[in-house]
Order: sequence, then structure tokens, then C-alpha cells
Amino acid sequence: MNRRPPQTDRDAAESIRIRGARVHNLQNLDLDIPRNRLVVVTGPSGSGKSSLAFDTLYAEGQRQYIESLSVYARQFLHQLERPDVEVIDGLPPTISIDQRAGRHNPRSTVATVTEIYDYLRLLFARLGEALCYRCGEPIRQQTPEQILAAMSALADGTRTMILAPLVRGRRGEHKEVLASIRKAGFLRARVDGEVIDIEDPPELARRKPHHIEAVIDRVVIRQQVRDRIAESISLALRHADGLVLVTHEEKSRRGSIWHDDLFSTRYACPHCKISYEELEPRTFSFNSPYGACPKCEGLGVPTMLEDQDAGTTGESKRRRLETFRGKVVCGECGGSRLRAEARSVRIGGKAIHEVTAMTVADVRKFFDQLRFDDDDERPIAQPIVAEIAARVEFLEKVGLDYLTLDRPAETLSSGELQRVRLATSLGSGLVGVCYVLDEPTIGLHARDNHRLIDALRNLQARGNTVVVVEHDEAIMRRADWLIDLGPGAGRHGGRIVVEGTPGDVSDADESLTGDYLAGRKKIPLPRRRRVAKTRSITITGVATNNLKQVTVRFPLSALVCVTGVSGSGKSSLLNETLARALVRRLGGIAAKPGPFVSLRGAKGIDKVVQIDQSPIGRTPRSNPATYTGTFDEIRKVFAGTRDARRRGYKAGRFSFNVKGGRCEECQGQGQQKIEMNFLPDLYVTCPVCEGRRFNRQTLAVRYREESIADVLDMRVDDAAVFFENFPVIARLLGSLQEVGLGYLTLGQPSTMLSGGEAQRVKLATELGRVETGKTFYVLDEPTTGLHFDDIKKLLDVLGRLVDLGNTVVVIEHHLDVIKTADWIIDLGPEGGDAGGYVVATGTPEQVAAIDGNHTGRFLRAVL
Ligand code: ADP
Ligand code: ADP
Ligand code: ZN
Ligand code: ZN
Repeated sequence: MNRRPPQTDRDAAESIRIRGARVHNLQNLDLDIPRNRLVVVTGPSGSGKSSLAFDTLYAEGQRQYIESLSVYARQFLHQLERPDVEVIDGLPPTISIDQRAGRHNPRSTVATVTEIYDYLRLLFARLGEALCYRCGEPIRQQTPEQILAAMSALADGTRTMILAPLVRGRRGEHKEVLASIRKAGFLRARVDGEVIDIEDPPELARRKPHHIEAVIDRVVIRQQVRDRIAESISLALRHADGLVLVTHEEKSRRGSIWHDDLFSTRYACPHCKISYEELEPRTFSFNSPYGACPKCEGLGVPTMLEDQDAGTTGESKRRRLETFRGKVVCGECGGSRLRAEARSVRIGGKAIHEVTAMTVADVRKFFDQLRFDDDDERPIAQPIVAEIAARVEFLEKVGLDYLTLDRPAETLSSGELQRVRLATSLGSGLVGVCYVLDEPTIGLHARDNHRLIDALRNLQARGNTVVVVEHDEAIMRRADWLIDLGPGAGRHGGRIVVEGTPGDVSDADESLTGDYLAGRKKIPLPRRRRVAKTRSITITGVATNNLKQVTVRFPLSALVCVTGVSGSGKSSLLNETLARALVRRLGGIAAKPGPFVSLRGAKGIDKVVQIDQSPIGRTPRSNPATYTGTFDEIRKVFAGTRDARRRGYKAGRFSFNVKGGRCEECQGQGQQKIEMNFLPDLYVTCPVCEGRRFNRQTLAVRYREESIADVLDMRVDDAAVFFENFPVIARLLGSLQEVGLGYLTLGQPSTMLSGGEAQRVKLATELGRVETGKTFYVLDEPTTGLHFDDIKKLLDVLGRLVDLGNTVVVIEHHLDVIKTADWIIDLGPEGGDAGGYVVATGTPEQVAAIDGNHTGRFLRAVL
């Protein structure tokens, strides 16, 4: 059933018209998506939501965008696959904000990702008050008269030289500089402190830093030479672009020494005579040599740590630096990453790194109070501060008030990162754009959901189309338009079950989504709760990040839910402390846990399994088949075929990771990377193997008609049938199906899995192992990417693990999961410093009965 928006002429122009969409599993879809509306695409996982939103809408939007770009970018256009769709028109420029996007740059912070840092730099450059980093005096510009007065103040009879500094500590041979001095008619220069005849310049070592000054004048101080000095100073200033270096002789019993004073009509400390570069935005950039701390090169940690890692891979180096971040800081810049000149510029009494060290909430207060008294300053400050305020307010609105602006992007959870990136879009003020988002509610407590929805509304109301792939009921109810895909996954999905307003969808009894929205179906409450058990693990005095020395008891052989608003300390407690401490207690290897006092009850378990949302691999070389171990078994099947034995192919021949059977053109990747200047890298299909990853000979080997590449293209559901006679493969694939991943293809590169999918691949791998019944599982928002109906299946799987005696601890916001828990540990009451306490523990009924508890309030509605 298709309910179309009313088709008047005006409406036709106001919708994105899609005809014949056949990307992946989409079944030749025709639909009109209303423009400038909040549109939610929903449906069971694998039904085709991303295929429609990302691989059709966004892909075509990006293609049309590149078409409009430079000639350089356009030459790759023919290689960008056109999505398989007959017609898309009325599509505005598209911007995607998804969770899959990388976060590789270790220098990215909340401030840089949101562009708040760009505006801060601008503000500090335009209006900052510079202080001398040595004496704290305000930096001033000097007039030539002031320079002259300073020189005249030297005692009569003092020998001086007036020099034009041309090279200050720059590497190179500097041949042109020396030639230019001669051409300008000067006779002498001072090179690295030595006065030389310019006709006979020394050879300079190219790799060493040098100082070169043209000697303008040599003069002995007397009242009568004032005019001559004035002229020489202005000559030097002209040649050295506003700088003049005066050196004078000081006699002492030991002999005489020459003393340099640098003056500047630009910026200098009147006291210490240190000259400063004029403030520019780059002065405050830790990614630029002008702003970065010279010692740590803008990383904030001692380079010594970096050096130790020379030769190790980027990944392990990153992890090592991660371990040290915040614990060991660069001695020069104190971890601020900036050079001294940048650190001593202030606005409202604070330096830029002091502003970024504040939380979002404090930054907002800071700018609220900031006043620019000067009439010249206000018009400059006002628009810059407005840009900063818009972004900061947005971050606050979507529940990220507890983040500090200098928090490295790579330490953020995927939901936090997505909301941070959303702030950039919102702040950008673009209009007429189509935003495509992937589950922006991840990581958000029910309390903060409406704030996110308001923000999306805001984005829409400004004249943008907002297309959101979501499973969250609250967003669905407040959408203008719902597109419900299904009915099943993969081949069984790819159709529009119903489209229309939320009311239309609720009324459609052929729609699973409608069934849940209307309450015809719901996730049932468990018949009994398993809390009577006495065994438990107790950790005391936990003080990691914002945790306030909390003591927490986790009942064993139970489904335990850790809840609380974003930033309340859930992952600090579980991931950064308890899990690590338990692993170490059991003799395993784990990063150092956060501070705690004691840990009791670990004897009740024999294994800790942490299943998070990090990718199962960082390259396209890992996929569900390789990660679960299924691929090893499948390769054995191929090596066992008559064909393979006749040719002498062993299992290794069927790997795309080693030489032999793979396509060497792309080294088994199936695609090649093209680096685009200023644009994200582009991947194009390998022209030799056409994306099949193996060479011709390998592909010639078939098992029941299918080649190894065909098998990698199979969906888990199909492969389970295809390999049903191989018990190990069948068991591994069965676990993938159990966690609702039957729709994935075996070879889907890990880089194309969402965080939630990656987590479920890991969960399936665990399920495929032999059970002990004494495992302690830790999961971070396992419902990510799951439709109501999938959540039911996931809860069955988790319940089974618990029934076997295992303990499952999940961080969750989804009320249907929380209400099913045996035990709840609620942290809060707020995020950041205002959180970090245990505010409630008990069964869902007990927590719901507590007054003034955020989680309890929402639980009451579903119990
Ligand atoms: P959803 O977003 O609803 O979870 P997807 O759009 O990701 O679903 O997937 C829909 C179907 O298309 C699934 O069967 C999936 O395996 C398949 N699919 C997804 N990505 C690809 C791809 N790159 N190549 C081939 N099939 C794909
Ligand atoms: P939750 O999991 O409940 O969302 P977290 O445990 O991630 O909360 O965060 C709790 C507090 O600790 C927040 O104020 C957060 O900003 C802070 N925090 C978490 N990780 C780090 C880190 N690596 N560096 C600094 N602060 C952190
Ligand atoms: Zn000074
Ligand atoms: Zn190839």
C-alpha cells in the first residue's frame, strides 16, 4: 500500500521524486519524499533503509555535487557508480551524518569538529589581548619614534649597529637573501652573529637554521647623530618588514659583549624586547607550525613517547598515546598543544586553551557574560560570538553539556560523535540542503530525546529536508512523514510497506512498525525476574572520570541494565573500570582500570567478554565471514573440491589477504583508493578483477557451481542453507542469524558495517563458542540499529545466555530493554560533574517507584 503525498503541481516540485530504485535489495521502488520535512525511514534491520537513504539518496546527491565541482574532481565521475535508480529529481545537495564515518585524525577535538575552534581562533586573533609570555606585560606595537627614543637612551659613546633582520632561524642556503642585500646596495651583513663582507658571502648549510641581517648603519651614540639614526631605523624597518634589530656594545672588566634588541612596529614586549608576530588565526592552530608547541608538535604529549613508537603501526601507536593522554603531558605546553605566544593571548581573562578546557555548559556561561566595551570591538565580536553560541547551545540541547571542547574526537562514543557533527551542520546555517542521518538517538536517555527531535525540527524549519533512519518511537511519532520498509530483511524486504503520516502508519495493520506504534504488538514484560541469587560482584570506591567514589553491586546470573543520562558515567564504570579490573583479576591483559578501592566476588566468573561497537576491523579486509571464523572453514571446503585438488590449491589459495589466489592489482581489496584533494577519498572498483578480489584461476574453482567470490557475495541466510551439511559453518552462521544479521553478506567489508552491526557480529561470534555458564558479558547499547521486532529477538538471545548461568550487563537507553532487566543500576543525576553518583538500584518496579528519578519516571510509563 502506497500513500502518496497529495499531487498538486506545487507539491510535485516540492518533493524528491524517485522512480525505479533498485539499489541492493530495493524492489524497483517508486516514491516521493516530501521536501523540507522531517522524514523518518524505518523498518526491520536489513529491510533496505540504508540502501534507500544512504546508497540511493545520498550517493546520488554526492554524485551530483561532484558533477558541479572542479575539472579535477570530475575526471573521476565516470568511475563513481551511479546508484541503480531510473529517476531522481528534485534532490537538493545532500550531506550525510552517519556513524560509519571515520574518526582517524588524532588531533580532532569537539572544538575542531564543530568548527567552534575556527571561530575561537578568529576571535582571539581579532580581539585577543596579547601578553608577553615572559613577563606578562601587554604586548604593544612601537612607533618609529619610540624605537628612536629607546636608542637615544643608550649612554653617549656607545657603539651600535642598526640591522635589518631578514632571516630569523630559518633553514636553507638563503642565496637569494644574500643577493638581495647586495643588490640593495648594502656592503655588509651579519650572518649567524658574524659580520661579513657581502661581496664574499659564506656558504650556508642547507639543513641548519640561520640568522641573516643586513647591516644598515654603524654609529656611535651622540645627540648629533639623531637624524641619521632615525633615517637608518626607517630604512631597516622598510627592508625587514617592520622589524629592526639594534645591537650595542657593553663594556665590562671581562671585555666587551654585544647586546641585541629587537624592535618592531608590529608587536613586541616593551620590557623584554621580544617581538611577536601579528595575531592571526593560525597563531592559535596546533596543526600549524605557527601555533603548535614546538616541543610536542601540537600533540600535547611528550614527543619522547612518540619516538619510542617509531616503526610501530599507526594503530598501536595511537592506542599507546591514548593510554598516556591526560596522564603524561608535554612539559613545554602543559598539554595545551600551543606555543607560548598563543597561550598568553587572552579574552575575558582566559587563554584559548583555557576556554577549550571548559565544558560546553561553562563555555556557554562564559560567552553569556563576556562583554566587549569598546565600540570598535563589538561589531567584530558579535557575529563571531553568535556562531560559537549557536553551536554551543546546540551541543547543550542534545545532552552534551558535559563534554569539554578539547575532548579528543576519538574518545567519543559513536552517538556522541554523531551529535557533535550535527552541531556543525546546524551551526553552518545552510538552507535548502538534504541531511541524511543514521540513528541520531544512539546514546541518548529518553529524557534528552525530545531535545534532539527539537534540534532536527529546527534544522528542518530553516528550510532543509531531514531524512533520518531511526528505530526510536518518539522520533517516529513526531515525524512529518514515515517510510516503512520491509516486510522482512534482504530479499524479503526492499518494499514500501506503508508511507504516510505517523497516524497513517499506525493504522496500517500490515506494518510491523504500525503494530508497535499502535500497541497491537509490544515487547512483553518477563514473567519473572531472576534476582533471588545471592552471588554478586562488588566494586567499591570507583573514581574514574566523573564517578564519585561509588560502590556498585552487580548480581550474577542476571540481566543487569546500567542506565542514566548521557555523560552520567556508565561507560566510565563498566568499560573503563569494572571490565578491565575483572579481566586483570582473572589473569588476562587489559588497559589499566580507572581508580577504585576493592573488587570482590570475581571468583563467581571465569571469563569477561566485552562486546562494544568498535569496528570488527579497520580495513575492508575483515568481514563477518573472517571475523567469526566462518571463512577459514569455507576455504577448507573449496580446497577439498576435486578441482582444487587437481590444481594443487590449498586453503590459502582462497584467501584475499595473501599472495597466490587473490587479484594482485588491488591486492585482494576489490577496490582501489583515489585520493582527492580536499574531498573524502574515493573508492572505485578494481578494473582487473571487477571487484571480485581473486584472480581468474582461483575463481575457476567452484563448489556446487559457486566460486569463492560468489560465496562472499551470499547473504548469511542463503549461505546457511548452502552449507547446511557442514556443522561448524552452520553453527557459526546460525549465530549470526540469531542476532538478526541473516541479511548481511558474508564478505561485507567491516568498514561498511554500522556500529550496532559490528557489535552483533561480535555477539554472534561469542554465541558460536562453547559455553561455560560463568561468563560476564558487557554490552554497550546492543539495540543500536534494531527495530522493535529485532529487539525481541536480541532479548531472547541475551535471556538464553543468562539462563545458562552467565551474567549480561548492558548499557541501555531503550525502555523495552530496561523494563526486561532483572536489575537496574541507574547513574546520574546529570552528565559530567553533576553526575557520577549511583542514584537508584533495584528491579525495574523498585526503580520506577523512586520519586524524582529520570529513568524511573520513564519506566513507570512502560511497566
Ligand atoms: P537496513 O539499513 O534497513 O538495515 P540495508 O539497506 O543496509 O538495510 O540492507 C538492505 C539489504 O541490502 C540487505 O540484504 C543487505 O545485505 C544488502 N546490502 C547492503 N549493502 C550492500 C552492498 N554494499 N552490496 C550488496 N548488498 C548490500
Ligand atoms: P556515559 O557512558 O554515561 O555517557 P561516560 O562514562 O562516558 O558517560 O562519561 C562520564 C564523564 O566522564 C563525562 O563527563 C565525560 O566527559 C567524562 N569522560 C569520559 N571519558 C573521558 C576521557 N577519555 N577523558 C576525559 N573525560 C572523560
Ligand atoms: Zn616580556
Ligand atoms: Zn582486483
